[in-house]
Amino acid sequence: MAHFLVIGAGIGGLTTAHALLRLGHSVRVYEAAPELREVGAGLVLGANAMRALQQLGLHEAVLPLGSPVTRLDLRTQHGQMLQSADTTPFTTRLGFPNLGIHRAALQQVLVRLLPPGILQLGCPFEGAETTEAGVVAHFTNGHTVRADALIGADGLRSSVRRQLLPGSEPRYAGYTCWRAVVDARQLALPAGESCEVWGERGRRFGYVPVGGGQVYWFACLNSHEPQNPQFRAYRTADLQRAFAGFHAPVPELLALTHDEHLLWNDILDLKPLPRFAFGCILLLGDAAHATTPNLGQGAGMAVEDAAVLAQCLTESADIPAAFRRFEQRRLRRTTRIITTSRQLGRVGQLESPLLTKLRNTVMQLLPPAVSRSQMAWLYDEL
Ligand SMILES: Cc1cc2nc3c(=O)[nH]c(=O)nc-3n(C[C@H](O)[C@H](O)[C@H](O)COP(=O)(O)OP(=O)(O)OC[C@H]3O[C@@H](n4cnc5c(N)ncnc54)[C@H](O)[C@@H]3O)c2cc1C
Repeated sequence: MAHFLVIGAGIGGLTTAHALLRLGHSVRVYEAAPELREVGAGLVLGANAMRALQQLGLHEAVLPLGSPVTRLDLRTQHGQMLQSADTTPFTTRLGFPNLGIHRAALQQVLVRLLPPGILQLGCPFEGAETTEAGVVAHFTNGHTVRADALIGADGLRSSVRRQLLPGSEPRYAGYTCWRAVVDARQLALPAGESCEVWGERGRRFGYVPVGGGQVYWFACLNSHEPQNPQFRAYRTADLQRAFAGFHAPVPELLALTHDEHLLWNDILDLKPLPRFAFGCILLLGDAAHATTPNLGQGAGMAVEDAAVLAQCLTESADIPAAFRRFEQRRLRRTTRIITTSRQLGRVGQLESPLLTKLRNTVMQLLPPAVSRSQMAWLYDEL
């Protein structure tokens, strides 16, 4: 049995803690936030992530909290269908659905299922050094903790990563995003249907059911500069103006949104890193491979990481060797997700009317086999 420190209690850190506990290791999770509030909007756990949750014994607890997503439609702002994918053949074969879920619900259940004393809140990680015996971690509250290994699951702006790979800063994708979860029961949207709307002049809107009649929506606009003060001031009424003329249910979802529920973030990712393993320190989740959200795989990759790490630690009792094996297994897939997602975002955010027209024609002509092969590597290749 080894003692692990996990930095960060996001989806990556919490699923990793469960994975390590199942293997009989001792674990402490150190989270910077003094409390885990209900933050975030919705996210999608693809069938690949649901399978990874099942491998960690968490699948049955998570499933009832979300809503299966069986259809992925892509439309123009006028409602014209560009592509429509029924994911059921894939998910049936894999035995797991794609699940839309509120991030807070997922985080809460992962916390609730941990034994008492594992999660330490209000402990921002400051730095670590490796020793013959493992690792010594320092926290800004003055605490110092020793362990056999440390896992940096502290997200996009990871302090663990910055110490190991100085200069590995997040990169701005060129667009900014508003999100919210609304109670949309009165709209009676078809069950399981998710849709992305690629509009003109770089306007993109999407929505996914997340369970209990709630729908998660996101809206993206191009912005040459991050943290654009004009967009910082945007409220729902500004989005209603920006997305005026979009087909139903876009105006209806915006009309159901209260300003205080609106989240705003620039879209960022990480240029693929050359490595995740550093002796007895490992990076995973967004700290290792943050991606733009266009493939809906950010949280899914973090959950897959936890499942793969469990397999690597089962195969090797030598922790640095298991971490190197994890790196070998995860670099290629996560790099592909980051690169493909970034490219897809560029296409979805096109500004030029001519290129937008061309894009829409190409999307309509794409044979279903292309989206099937896309789904195959997204959901099936672990
Ligand atoms: C507040 C929040 C809201 C989000 N909302 C959404 C959403 O609505 N939709 C969506 O698709 N994705 C959202 N995400 C991102 C999504 O959850 C992640 O992409 C994905 O789940 C990968 O998770 P992760 O655990 O690797 O990283 P994260 O979810 O970013 O978790 C990292 C955790 O590490 C903690 N941390 C950071 N620095 C330190 C430090 N120095 N010491 C200790 N702890 C530290 C953070 O507080 C956080 O809890 C959100 C992330 C966060 C943090």
